[in-house]
Amino acid sequence: MKIILIGYPCSGKGTQAQFISKKYQIPKISTGDLLRKKIFNKKINSNKKINDKIKSGKLVSDKIIISLIKKRLKKNDCLKGYVLDGFPRTLNQFKIMHLEKINIDFLIEILVSKKNIFKRALGRQIHIPSGRIYHNIYNPPLIKNKDDITGEKLIIREDDTKKIIEKRLKEYEIFKKKIFKYCTKKKILKNLKYFTINGNKNLKKIKHSIQKILIK
Ligand code: AMP
Repeated sequence: MKIILIGYPCSGKGTQAQFISKKYQIPKISTGDLLRKKIFNKKINSNKKINDKIKSGKLVSDKIIISLIKKRLKKNDCLKGYVLDGFPRTLNQFKIMHLEKINIDFLIEILVSKKNIFKRALGRQIHIPSGRIYHNIYNPPLIKNKDDITGEKLIIREDDTKKIIEKRLKEYEIFKKKIFKYCTKKKILKNLKYFTINGNKNLKKIKHSIQKILIK
């Protein structure tokens, strides 16, 4: 089961990827998580440059992203499948994904109104080492500001501000237009199981919609 989740930032991709990963025993691979983890563990040489890009809502270079994802997909846990969150994010990444034969069965788009995106972004907290995502109202941790599993500290992402989210929303709209144009031209969409789900609903209902798609 190879799945890509797409949608606006804060549309719930990470949370749903977490759910899919647990339910179907496939890894959740988020390029954002991989980058944050590397920065957190000080494993990237050009650490500061990448951190500045993330903080300001700019995209990290395709070269870095492709190298990260290729390395990650080579791990044994990906043999059964994976759920990708935040990759691809540019037309070039999408094309490379095809060239590299990174196959995909399902392309699921989570649709959320902009009003809800802002509501969700403000209140989001993450646990960097695992990528687990919480929200102080919609998905609170068992203990305030602590990760449920490790008890470690949760953080608020520096790019979860109104201004940066607006920028990331625009960037997503451009990306979506480009890939759909490309897929139509190359007749790719018909080989992909493309579904949209209403991500404005509550967590339980969204999970249910995803489950219904994945048994098709
Ligand atoms: P995310 O956690 O998916 O919201 O990603 C956070 C940030 O990491 C983005 O705003 C970008 O700066 C960077 N990033 C994550 N994935 C990608 C990608 N596929 N291509 C370029 N930059 C990315």
